[in-house]
Amino acid sequence: MYDDNNIFAKILRKEIPCDKVYEDEFSLFFKDINPQAKIHILGIPKFQSTTFSEFLKKADNNIILSFFKSVQIVIDHLNIEKDGYRLITNSGENGGQEVPHFHIHILAGEKIGGLR
Ligand code: AMP
Repeated sequence: MYDDNNIFAKILRKEIPCDKVYEDEFSLFFKDINPQAKIHILGIPKFQSTTFSEFLKKADNNIILSFFKSVQIVIDHLNIEKDGYRLITNSGENGGQEVPHFHIHILAGEKIGGLR
């Protein structure tokens, strides 16, 4: 069950601020408050879903397509395609998800270490 008191829901409702990178009808992208790389952006759909799987199962195809197209718009905007980047989505307890609103991390700007 989606908890609309989570911090990203509050950001979407503009109850708390964010450092916005891109926004359109279906999605919002902003800088991670605790960056793990020189570039660390979070992308969230404007659709109430807790995890990647819930988003894919519940959202209409046009919403899903628009969200992932906007990920590429941000990649282009940041000019990180040539040097590379990493996309991460943590899901649930085993995935280490902290904020229960589906989001994608875009990490770039340097060689990203850790698990692969
Ligand atoms: P996850 O572990 O995948 O749920 O990641 C949650 C991410 O949200 C972490 O990288 C946090 O640093 C980030 N975060 C938490 N609160 C905020 C906030 N108010 N603004 C921007 N990023 C945030």
